[in-house]
Order: sequence, then structure tokens, then C-alpha cells
Amino acid sequence: MPRITIDGTVYEFEGRPKLLQFCLDHGIELPHFCYHPALSIPANCRQCLVEVGMPVIDRETGKPKLDENGQPVIQFMPKLQTSCSLDMADGMVVKTHRTSEKVARAQRDNLEFLLINHPLDCPICDQAGKCPLQIQAYKYGPEGSRFEFLKVHKPKRVKLGPRVMLDAERCINCTRCVRFTDEISKSHQLTIIERGVKNYPITPPGVEFDDPYSMNVIDLCPVGALTSIDARFKARPWEMSATPSITITNAKGSNCYYWVRDNLIVEITARANAAVNGYWLPDEDRLDYHRFNENRPDGPEVRRDGRLVRVSWEEAYDRAAELLAGIDGRRILFLGSAYATVEDNYLLKRLAEALGADTPVYIPHLEPGHGDGWLRTDDRTPNAQGCQRLGILPVDEALVRSRLESGEIQAIYVLEDDPVGSGLFTAEALADIPVILHYYNTTNQTLAVADVALPAATVVETVGTYVNCDGHAQRVRPAKAIRTVNRVLMQEIGKSRLDQHGTPYDRWYNEKHQVDCKPSWEILPEVAQRLGHPLRYKGPKYIMQEIAETIPAFAGATYEAMGLEGVRLVEIGAEV
Ligand code: SF4
Ligand code: SF4
Repeated sequence: MPRITIDGTVYEFEGRPKLLQFCLDHGIELPHFCYHPALSIPANCRQCLVEVGMPVIDRETGKPKLDENGQPVIQFMPKLQTSCSLDMADGMVVKTHRTSEKVARAQRDNLEFLLINHPLDCPICDQAGKCPLQIQAYKYGPEGSRFEFLKVHKPKRVKLGPRVMLDAERCINCTRCVRFTDEISKSHQLTIIERGVKNYPITPPGVEFDDPYSMNVIDLCPVGALTSIDARFKARPWEMSATPSITITNAKGSNCYYWVRDNLIVEITARANAAVNGYWLPDEDRLDYHRFNENRPDGPEVRRDGRLVRVSWEEAYDRAAELLAGIDGRRILFLGSAYATVEDNYLLKRLAEALGADTPVYIPHLEPGHGDGWLRTDDRTPNAQGCQRLGILPVDEALVRSRLESGEIQAIYVLEDDPVGSGLFTAEALADIPVILHYYNTTNQTLAVADVALPAATVVETVGTYVNCDGHAQRVRPAKAIRTVNRVLMQEIGKSRLDQHGTPYDRWYNEKHQVDCKPSWEILPEVAQRLGHPLRYKGPKYIMQEIAETIPAFAGATYEAMGLEGVRLVEIGAEV
């Protein structure tokens, strides 16, 4: 197998990898700005320089020449090489900044050039605290500045489009943003104008940067030149925690981080997962956080004298069980949910079975034309496939309406959906039968007819599993705290590098913003227990373990196997 020596350590490799990517894959830090594994390699920032040599070959023997110690004689190239664009070769010897003063000096000088006209914006820059230029200037740059003249000024607040703001002075012309629109989203909406110290990226005349994936350039920009119009100046990186999870605007389940400050979601950014979304996230996924903060309920309610009144959780469970107890299970319609987790739907199905009811069905939320064949789908729910794998199928609307009209349905149990808002039933049609509703937001129109309203934890407050449109099962974790104490949630709640201890003194923690809701996997066993059908599990992990063991369509989908990147399940039908 070919070998390469990097800073005196020998590594074996296969194929012809680029040196920078090989180093990054092996935990060898090399400073760089313009390189990105998903983009072409312009080698224009000149920060990843290394010294490179090859063994000298004896022309007569065709073998490497050896020195007096029996070691191969290495001939180093006269100029430093950019490791991002360098193909590795057998016998190559590489010196990084760790072993070469020449490389360290070049990187220091390069940073000095990059900083000549760079503004001293760090105290007010959104990138500060996570800025590669800031970090590398500290680690590899010169101490202090030798430049005392007036810096070149460029446009400071350019609205490139509805969602992205440019500060041209901070740009280091890495071209990542331009390459993204050329090579990935293919909108070609950005280009570099001007020359030398005056150049910066901008849209062509008359063009707005309204690419539905435009905000990916914010993640890509290695400095604070491109910022989110929605998120800029709202929170500093060290004030937030970041929890790895998935987005729920559609059936793709793109991987993301939920950023939390004061127990509110303030930003959503992309998380790399080659099996799902690569490095990217649609803009609509990034801006979809208000639903977790706004119009949230404040505890359970039951209807008394025509009005919903606040009660304790115990009273709400009692009332739900009381309403269901007097009705033949076959006359109760259980509505599952493509918004809810696999675990929640499974418990609902088990409750329905225990009561002798039909298998639950779910309401599809399709928006024809919304999908783009990439990271957006016509299905606006995150877990339709999870429902189908459980045997919970799309509702036959005409059938359930006629059953309701004929009096065959005498109660409805709704898991995390809105049958009135979605148009499945009118409020009038449900007015005379018991409706038990698990819901996320007070905008849920079924609340108008609910007899028991049970606030449910959202994807950022619960633990559970979703299956995306490609059959990829993924776990979610709580990013923010809810009011009630649940040991599973407490153990799972995201803690970032910046707030590892997760104490009430951390910036992300704020009791005022805790919603009084519960995961449906905690609510359903309480109701089932009161109906004489215990559903006892130590937590969602064990529910999922049972599902993985008993339902072939979920084989292998344990929490351990899913980890942070999920597992690809067998195709539906392939297991039979
Ligand atoms: Fe500071 Fe980085 Fe912002 Fe420049 S881009 S002002 S170095 S934080
Ligand atoms: Fe690179 Fe950012 Fe400048 Fe675009 S705006 S060229 S991503 S530094």
C-alpha cells in the first residue's frame, strides 16, 4: 500500500486523495479557508501551505537514493504547495507548520496579508467566537499589526437578498459562496466584482439572491461577511447551546443544529450527514423555529361549561379516561400523526388495540409542487413513513366523515395533529362527541371542540425517532427544557461545548420560557393506565427497542444504532 510521511509519521493510503482532506480525516489540523469538501478546489486562500518532497530516484538502479544513514534522500520542492489541491503520492514527505519554520512563516505572513484591510469588528461581529479567521489569526497569525494607515473601505450592509446580508469589508475572497451558487444550488446568483483589495462577492445587476438555499452561504463563509438577516445580532455563539437533531418542515428529515438561548430556539443551522442532506439545509428549514417559541400552550385543560379550563395533569388524564371508558372501543377513531415520533404513534396504536378499536390512521399533509427533488418534498410532515411502517396508514377522508355522520364514530383521540385545521372535519361535526387532543400550539383549530387538551412536547423538547422519505430512521433529542421534570429528558438534553454543565445558571436555561407540556410517550401510558391497559416502558429507548425487535420494517433501528446519523431501514415491503 502507498505510504506518505507527514511530520515524521508514516501513514498508508489508498487511491489518490488530496493531502488536506487526508490530514483532516486523520485529525491533523491544517489551517485553511477556501477549501470545502463539497466544492471545487481553487486553492486561492493560500493558507494550507506545506513543504513537500519526494525521494530522489537513482537513475541507474531505479531505486531511491539513500543517505549515509540508509534513509532515502528527499528532494523538497522549491516552493511551498497548497495541500488542498495536492494529490498524494507514494513516498511523499510532508512538513506542516509543526515541523517547518518556512511553512509557519508563510502562514503567518499570509494571515498578515488577509488582515491588512480587515475591519476590527470582532466585538460586534456575529461570527466572533466561531470565526476561522479569528481562531487562525490567534493560533498562527502575527502578534499585533504593523499597519497604521487607513484601511480600504467596502460596502458594510448590502442586502444580497431577502435572507442574506453582506459585509464586504470582512470578506476574504475565498469564493466559497460563489462556488456554492455555481456548483451546488446552480442559481449562479453570486459573482466576485472589482480587483485586488477592492473585490467582493455580489449579485449581478438586477438579480436578487433569493435562491431557496441561499442561507447555506452563511454556514460556508469562513468569516462574518455573510450573515442571516433573521439571526444577526440576536445572540453570541457562547450564549447558546447547539443540539444535533433534524428539521421537520418536510419528509426529508435534514440534519440540523437547534441553537438555544434563554430556553428559546433562536437559530437553526445545517449539520452534515452524507446519507441525508450532505452539508446543506433549505432556507425554509432554517427559519422554521418560531413554531417552537410562539403560541405555545400553558398546561392541560378540560372543557367545563363550554370552556376550556386549566387543570392539573392528573385531572386531565382522569377526564380523558372517563370520556373514553363509556364508549365501545370500536367507535373511537384514533388519529395518529406524521408529526409525532414513531414511539408516540406506536403507543397510540397499542392503546387502540387494547380498546378493540381499528388501527389508527394519520392525516397526510401534502403540498403538490413544493418538492424540488433535493431537500424539499411535497410531504410537509417528517414522519409519514414512520407511521406507514407501523401500519398506520393515510386516513380515508370520505369514509371517516361518513362514519362520523352516521354516528358510528362516537369519540376521537387525536395525536399531535389538527383535524379541524387540516379540513378533515368541521368543528360543527365534532361538536357533540368527545375529542381528546394532543397539540403543540394554541393556533390548533381543533382546540375549539377539544374536551381534553393535552399540550405535547415538540421535536425540540422530546426524545424519539422519525423515518424520512428514503427510509432513514433518525433520533431526536431535546434542545430546550419543558416545565415538568422527566428523567429521560433531563439526561438527554443537549449540552454544548459552551454549557457542558447544564445548570440553571447557563444562558440557555430560562424557566420563564419553559412550556408546560409533556411528550406523548409520557401522556399515553397515563391515559392507558386509567383505562386498565398499562403500557409500561422505562422510556422511549425501550419502546423503540421493542419496535425494532417486533416489527420487521424497523429492524435494526435501536437508539444505539441510530446514533447521530441514523440508520437506513429495509424498504417497506422488502421484509415480507
Ligand atoms: Fe473578527 Fe472574524 Fe468577524 Fe473578522 S470575520 S471581524 S476576524 S469575528
Ligand atoms: Fe468567502 Fe465569505 Fe467572501 Fe463569500 S463572502 S467569498 S464565503 S469570505
